[in-house]
Amino acid sequence: MKYYSLNKQSPAVDFKTATIQGQAPDKGLYFPETLPKLPKSWFEEIGTRSNEQIAFDVIKPYVGDEIPGQELERIVKETIDFPIPLVKIKEDIFSLELFHGPTLAFKDVGARFMSRCLGYFAKERSGKVTVLVATSGDTGGAVANGFYDVEGVEVVILYPSGKVSSVQEKQLTTLGKNIHALEVQGTFDDCQQMVKQAFTDESVTGKRFLTSANSINVARWLPQQFYYFFAYKQWADKNHPPVICVPSGNFGNICAAMLAHISGLPVQHFIAACNANDVVPRYLFSEQYEVRPAVATISNAMDVGNPSNFVRVMELFDNNFIDLRNILSGYTITDEDTRKTIESVKKETGYLLDPHGAVAYLALQRYLTAHSGERGLIIETAHPVKFYDVVEPVIREQIAIPPSIAGILDLPKRSTVIKADYDELKAYLLS
Ligand SMILES: *Cc1c(COP(=O)(O)O)cnc(C)c1O
Repeated sequence: MKYYSLNKQSPAVDFKTATIQGQAPDKGLYFPETLPKLPKSWFEEIGTRSNEQIAFDVIKPYVGDEIPGQELERIVKETIDFPIPLVKIKEDIFSLELFHGPTLAFKDVGARFMSRCLGYFAKERSGKVTVLVATSGDTGGAVANGFYDVEGVEVVILYPSGKVSSVQEKQLTTLGKNIHALEVQGTFDDCQQMVKQAFTDESVTGKRFLTSANSINVARWLPQQFYYFFAYKQWADKNHPPVICVPSGNFGNICAAMLAHISGLPVQHFIAACNANDVVPRYLFSEQYEVRPAVATISNAMDVGNPSNFVRVMELFDNNFIDLRNILSGYTITDEDTRKTIESVKKETGYLLDPHGAVAYLALQRYLTAHSGERGLIIETAHPVKFYDVVEPVIREQIAIPPSIAGILDLPKRSTVIKADYDELKAYLLS
């Protein structure tokens, strides 16, 4: 499989190069040259396959022979070594729980797959790779955990001091080994700016092989298809495929879902559920794509003003607006309605949503009200305990801390404090 840049100014590359580079030299996102199709019989027999087999069949055409079959099998197995259950909330709404991984968020799947692919390629080229990443909270934990103890890979994470939650900070700073946390006395934007500068600084890139663990990397994007197939496997009424509602920020997750659909996955309709950062729902309504600065909400992992993966969604539909609108609807959900949804769903069904899942739940409910007889599922992207500061006051109860998090809360934090000054990062990287 070759990948071309959506900016069309750089040459097409193989999976390995796309994974190592992240972004094309012309700053475009990589996109597969052909979209694989799975036969109908494969879907009819999906119930007889293990999740590992399903994931392997899905990803194999994208990787080709660049990772040997046995190695790819191992990578897939390690990527999804936690349950991904489809849980019934009420008669017509189900929840695909993607929060049973090590950092309790769906980003674990992409981060684990990508880290292992990079680890494999690093071993092959017999030199260390340094993953350099800035985080506002959630991405850093998934990346740190995904790369933990992967041979041949060093990870340097910049995070803004005092601006991530205490749980998130522990997830970044307690691992040790090949994971290095730089606590920056500044904002997330400072961190991101410093990282960007390092990538263009030849005195650094000449000494260390730098790569990013950005969500636009194909090795993070493509494996996000896996769990849509797992959902279908668990979907009882195969004659009536589900409406799939994805809480969306950068649009990588829903884009993977739509790619799965183009590969043959039966889906009735897609819904992009957004908070106040709703450039895509407004586009679907008006055909005007107007980027705005991000605004802060209680579903903060979706606070994205200019979703980077939306160009990929458009490419999937050959930039045809009508085709896209026929399969995708968008909804905007306010913080107030998000809180009300967490409260009412808990009261009426006993199910506890996190703020992102609640945005999706209300969007799906609104869609189903207008399309009677259909049923759907939401993607529950994070465990509610990750957002306890929002959820607990709403339900007026404490959320039990899962063992995987409880274990790290007592571990000592290990970080290197630096100023929001590129020279300090440079000195660290060259030392
Ligand atoms: C990253 C994230 C999202 C948004 O996913 P995108 O692929 O960026 O659209 C939604 N919910 C949670 C909890 C996240 O961490």
